[in-house]
Amino acid sequence: MFKQVELKYEFNALEPYIDTLTMETHYSKHHAGYTKNLNAALETANNTNDDIVDILSHLEKLPKDVQTAVRNNGGGYYNHNLYFASLAAHPKKVPSGELLDKINATFGNVDALKVQLTNAATKQFGSGWAWLSKNKNGDLKVTSSPNQDNPLMETNGEWTPILGIDVWEHAYYLKHRNLRGDYIKDFFEVLDWQVVEDNYNK
Ligand code: MN
Repeated sequence: MFKQVELKYEFNALEPYIDTLTMETHYSKHHAGYTKNLNAALETANNTNDDIVDILSHLEKLPKDVQTAVRNNGGGYYNHNLYFASLAAHPKKVPSGELLDKINATFGNVDALKVQLTNAATKQFGSGWAWLSKNKNGDLKVTSSPNQDNPLMETNGEWTPILGIDVWEHAYYLKHRNLRGDYIKDFFEVLDWQVVEDNYNK
């Protein structure tokens, strides 16, 4: 059974950047729903694999009739665990160490990376995600995905997301309405770069 990541903060802790009702609905309804539906789909398939990264990297190994359910709900489960774990009321505001070195070498500097992530997030048509991912060599790249897809599925696990920006309207519409760009600015105010660093160094 897969379980939602436990929040290290209260639903109201990210105000005024991400509002309380959005956090509560997003975690308790949307994320809870993906998790429940993932577990149901895997039970149908008599799945005993408890490694979600492996499952999402090789959806083709699942029975055909549950692949779509696991893609959508397993993606929703994994992506939101990454997202909620990366937010904090008192975040580390800038990356350091090996991740910072790699960002500077790849994108020029942290601000240039944020511009790339913001572009990927604002240009994703409809629902989806923007990602910063790493491969086994420690290289970095920025991409976006539709729906609940992610780089694990798209590259058979070659690239692992270390930072994800949820740009489904449910992530921001109550507060930011149609202004996705404002939400992305606010997202960066509560993004904990310590968590991104930990994901990079894993
Ligand atoms: Mn979401």
